[in-house]
Amino acid sequence: MERSGQESMPLHGIRGLQSKVRELQESPGGLGFGRYFTDHMLLMDYEEGTGWGEPRIVPYGPLLLDPASKVFHYGQTVFEGMKAFKWKDGRARLFRPLDHVRRLNRSCARMCVPAVDEARVLGALRRLVTADADWIPEAPGTSLYIRPFVVATETQLGVAPSRSYAFVAICSPVGAYYAEGVRPVPIYVETEHVRAVAGGVGDAKTAGNYAAGLKAQEAAARMGCAQVLWLDGVEREYVEEVGSMNAFFRFGDEIVTPPLGGSILAGVTRDSVIRLLRGWGVSVSERPVSIGEVAAGLRDGKLREAFGTGTAAVVSPIGSLHWRGERLTVGDGEPGELSKRLYETLSGIQRGELPDAYGWMEVVPSAAE
Ligand SMILES: *Cc1c(COP(=O)(O)O)cnc(C)c1O
Repeated sequence: MERSGQESMPLHGIRGLQSKVRELQESPGGLGFGRYFTDHMLLMDYEEGTGWGEPRIVPYGPLLLDPASKVFHYGQTVFEGMKAFKWKDGRARLFRPLDHVRRLNRSCARMCVPAVDEARVLGALRRLVTADADWIPEAPGTSLYIRPFVVATETQLGVAPSRSYAFVAICSPVGAYYAEGVRPVPIYVETEHVRAVAGGVGDAKTAGNYAAGLKAQEAAARMGCAQVLWLDGVEREYVEEVGSMNAFFRFGDEIVTPPLGGSILAGVTRDSVIRLLRGWGVSVSERPVSIGEVAAGLRDGKLREAFGTGTAAVVSPIGSLHWRGERLTVGDGEPGELSKRLYETLSGIQRGELPDAYGWMEVVPSAAE
C-alpha cells in the first residue's frame, strides 16, 4: 500500500522532543488519549500468493486507499491496543506484547484475515517503539499507546474475504487516565441494545463491535453515565462487559468475572488481574453473573466492589449502576480495597516500581543496540 504525497513533518531527532511531550502533557487538555501521534508508523502489505511482506518503518502520515477497498464497505478489519512505558533507567518496556500479537491473530482468524508472523511483527513493533522512544512520556500514569491494525485493501465490491491487506501500527503518547486519582464512575445498564452474541464477533477486536456500541454509549451519556454495562444478547440477563473493558464483581470474598463464552473479548488485563488475585490467595470464579444477582448484592451489601479492566485504564472502579430507572451505589462510592490494590500493583509493575514476578515486562532495545 502507498501513502499519499502529503507527509507529516518528522520531529524525531529534533532536540527537545521530550520537552515538547512534557509541554503537551502540561497543557490544559493534557496528552489525553489518542490525540497526538508520533513521527513514525509501521506498514506491512499482504498479497494473496506472496503472503505478508517485510514490515517498514515510515514517517507517520495519511494512507492512500482506493475507495473500493473492502474495509470501507464490509468492515473486514482487526485492531490491538498495547502500551510501552519509560522506566527510571530511561529504557522502554512493553507490557505483555506477545499476548497482544497472539490475540491479534485470534481476531484475524475470526475475521478471515491471514495470520501475521508473531515474531516478525513483535520485532517490528519493538523497532517502532525504539524509533519513537523520545515520544514516550515519563510522568507517572503516562505511557505510549500502540495501536496495530489490519485493513482489507482489495478493490472489489463482492462480499468475500479480501485478497490483499495492510497491517499498520501507530503510536500515541497518552496521559494519566486518572489525573486526580482513581475515581469510580457511574455506569448505565443497557437493557435494549446488545454488544455481541456468542457465535458473533464479540470475541474479536474488530471495528464493527465498537460502532454497534455507540448508540448505547450516547444513551449512557444522556443519563450522566461514563460507560455502558452490556448484558447478554439472548436473555438480557447476564453481564458481559463494561464499555470496552472486562467486568469484575466482588461478592463477599469471592471475585466473579463472566466466562469467555464467545461474546466476550479475552482481555490481557483480565488475565493479569485473575493471576494477581489468585497469587494473593483470593478466590476468582469465571462464571455467569446475572444483573439480578448484581442488583441484589448491591441492595444487601454482599457486592462490595465492581470494576472494569483494560489496557487504557488498567482498573476502572464502578461507583454506581443505573438500572431500570434505579441508581444503585457500589459500597461507599469510593474505590474498593481490591480494585485499588490491583490498580496499584499492575501500574507499579508497568512503571518498574514493583517486581515483575510474572515476567510481563519486555525491554525494548535502545537506538544504539
Ligand atoms: C480491548 C478490549 C478489552 C480489554 O482488553 P485488554 O487486553 O485488557 O486491553 C475488553 N473488552 C473489549 C470489548 C475490548 O475491546
